[in-house]
Amino acid sequence: MSVSDWQTPMPRVAVIGAGISGLITARTLCDLGFDVTVFEKSRGLGGRTATRRVDPGLSFDHGAQYFTARDPHFVRQVMAWTEQKIVADWTGRIVTIDGTDVRLKTDQPHRYVGVPGMKAIAHHLGADLNVRLETRIVRLQRVGNGWQVTDAAGRCDGPFSHVLVSLPAPQAAELLGDHALAAEVRAIPMTPCWAVLAAFDGRVEVPWDGAFVHGSPLVWVARNSSKPGRDYSRDCWVLHASPEWSSAHQDVERDTVKATLLSAFTHITALAALNPIHLDVHRWLFSATPLSVDRLVLFDDDVGLVVCGDWLAGGRVEGAFLSGVAAADCLLRQVSISANKQLPT
Ligand SMILES: Cc1cc2nc3c(=O)[nH]c(=O)nc-3n(C[C@H](O)[C@H](O)[C@H](O)COP(=O)(O)OP(=O)(O)OC[C@H]3O[C@@H](n4cnc5c(N)ncnc54)[C@H](O)[C@@H]3O)c2cc1C
Repeated sequence: MSVSDWQTPMPRVAVIGAGISGLITARTLCDLGFDVTVFEKSRGLGGRTATRRVDPGLSFDHGAQYFTARDPHFVRQVMAWTEQKIVADWTGRIVTIDGTDVRLKTDQPHRYVGVPGMKAIAHHLGADLNVRLETRIVRLQRVGNGWQVTDAAGRCDGPFSHVLVSLPAPQAAELLGDHALAAEVRAIPMTPCWAVLAAFDGRVEVPWDGAFVHGSPLVWVARNSSKPGRDYSRDCWVLHASPEWSSAHQDVERDTVKATLLSAFTHITALAALNPIHLDVHRWLFSATPLSVDRLVLFDDDVGLVVCGDWLAGGRVEGAFLSGVAAADCLLRQVSISANKQLPT
């Protein structure tokens, strides 16, 4: 049975944010017959599960690097994505580096990546959804029994019976304004992350493909071109600065960030100077939270408002998925409560 079989008007839902959490909710509700509109401020889907393609030979997963699956529900989903060839195992050699000490990681969980880039998961989830790209929502307003959303260009849309806010906590808090949920969301800090995207003509000759780094401005480096389904003609690397270094250098010139992180990379490889053929940088303002919230979703049943995002579920792609699933459940429950209220007694 789909929602359109119910004796109530089809619920209209606004989803703010097209990262993994928002897309999971939108996909679930759309498949059940809801009228869903997704609003996304950037030019593409996926949020922090991102891939930047510079030209056919150069692509970089500059946000999420890979993901793991522990929750049985997520494990089942990942198995399905694997069969559909949307994700694949990444069997790269992962080490830890501390000064000159390089050790193979002893715990080697199953690492999955989107194919041909991390973004593939979002493209799969978002296929045929009604998504308004380059639309930054700046205001949510209660109008009668519904919601109106307003974007940065002053355009309004609505009424929606329900709104899902699926954004990093600081951005969600800003949008929630003076709603009671905002205080809790505002208390969640998120740290920045500088990411450098570097490509080399020849192979960077180190016997590993990814490294957790200690005692350096860097915290993680990965040979993007060692992941399955990538173009292997160039050696593409992603270098992530630590939360501490990124916070302390948040407003530093981009050229300085590139030079410092490339030099830190050269240092940990113990190679002579590395000469990239492509060098770029991206700043993630809200990368991750050091706090654990473990609530999955926040909601206000009275007004049909739900908040989700990775930061509510332990961070990471798996957390975004679980929070998005919980948000869809929450919205379904809200819809059935209001449908019951309208039944004749
Ligand atoms: C550098 C980095 C490395 C990471 N590494 C890993 C990893 O290795 N493994 C792992 O599992 N996870 C990793 N993560 C975390 C993972 O990327 C996130 O957990 C996940 O992508 C979060 O999904 P989300 O839907 O909760 O939020 P997001 O992906 O942040 O989605 C929110 C969306 O909302 C949009 N938006 C924001 N404001 C507005 C607005 N006002 N109006 C409309 N749209 C708006 C944004 O553009 C974005 O698309 C990493 C993240 C970063 C940044």
